[in-house]
Amino acid sequence: MRGRKKRHGSWCDWRWQLQHAIRSVEALEAEALVERASAEALVPVVNRYPLCITPYYLELANRADPADPVLLQCLPDRRELDGGQAADPFAEEGSTDVPGLVQRYPDRALVMTTSACAVACRHCTRKNLLGDQRHVVGSRRWAAVCEELQKRPAVREVILSGGDPLLLETEALEHMLHDLHAISHVEVVRIGTRVPVVLPMRIDDALADALARHRPLWVNTQFNHPVELTADALAACERLISRGIPVSNQAVLLRGVNDNLDTLRELCNSLQRNMIRPYYVFQCDPVQGTGHFHTEIGKGIELSHELSCSLGGLAMPRFVADVPGSDGKTPLGELTMEGSSS
Ligand code: SF4
Repeated sequence: MRGRKKRHGSWCDWRWQLQHAIRSVEALEAEALVERASAEALVPVVNRYPLCITPYYLELANRADPADPVLLQCLPDRRELDGGQAADPFAEEGSTDVPGLVQRYPDRALVMTTSACAVACRHCTRKNLLGDQRHVVGSRRWAAVCEELQKRPAVREVILSGGDPLLLETEALEHMLHDLHAISHVEVVRIGTRVPVVLPMRIDDALADALARHRPLWVNTQFNHPVELTADALAACERLISRGIPVSNQAVLLRGVNDNLDTLRELCNSLQRNMIRPYYVFQCDPVQGTGHFHTEIGKGIELSHELSCSLGGLAMPRFVADVPGSDGKTPLGELTMEGSSS
C-alpha cells in the first residue's frame, strides 16, 4: 500500500512534515525527482509559483512513473509559464474593500486566511494570488473582516479558505470560528482544506475536538485520485466525521491525473464507502499557469454521463464549472460544446 513505507518518531508530527517539505529545485534534484539537465529550466517556474511537497504526500508517488498522479499534482512543470489565461479570472482580488475577503455570491463570503499550504498544488486556482501577502487576511486584518461581515446581513455562510486554514495554529483557528459564529446572521462556516490529502497527521484528536466545538461546521476537501485515500487520510476524515463534522469532496478534473472513467469510479466509490460525500467534480479553472491540466468540456460531460451509468446516486458527484462572470457553479451539461476548451 502506498504511504506506508517510512515510519519513524517524527513522521506523524505535522510540524516535522512541514519542516522537511521540499521547497527548492535543489531539493528535487537531491531526491532524484528531476535530472540535472531539466532542473535549470524549473528554476523560473519555482520562482514564479512556489514549490512545497510534504514527505508524506511524496511517499504516495511512484517515482519511477513520470505520469504518476501524485507527481503530476505536485512537481513543477515548465508549461506553467505558458501564458494565455487570466491570473485572477474570478476577480477575487478587490471584490470587497478588505483584501482577502471575497464575495462573489450574495449569501456567501470567502476568507483567504493564509497563504500557506502543505503542498503547493500545481493546478491551484489561486496560484497567482497566494504568494502575495496583500491578498491574504492573516491575523492583522481579521478584525476588519468581522466588521465588514457585520455590515453584510445577507451573508449566511462563510468559507474559510486559503491557502489552507488548517495550517493555522489551532488557537488562531478557534478564535476565527468563535468570532464568525458570534455574528448573528452567519449560520454556517465551511473550511476548504487539502490537509486530509497532503498532511493528514495535522487532524489529530486535539484539532478535531477544537473544530467540533464550533459546529455547524462543514469541511470540504479535495481528493483527486484513489491513491490519495490512504489509511492516514481516511483516519483524519473519520476524526472529523465521528465528531459531527461532515466531510465532502470537491475533486478537480485534471488531464492525465483523473480524466478517465475507472479512476473516477474508484475514487467516488471509495469516498462513499468511507462516508465522505463525493460532492463535486470541478472543471479545472481557466487560471494562468494551469493550462496543461485542462480538459475539454466535452470530456467532462462524457465522463459525467458514463459515471452516472455505473454509480449509485449517493456516490455520484455533480460535474460543474466555475465560469468567470456567472453567479454560481454551472453544470457542465449546460455549457455549450462551442468554445469549451477552457
Ligand atoms: S491546498 Fe488548496 S489553496 Fe493550497 S495549493 Fe492546493 S488547491 Fe491551492
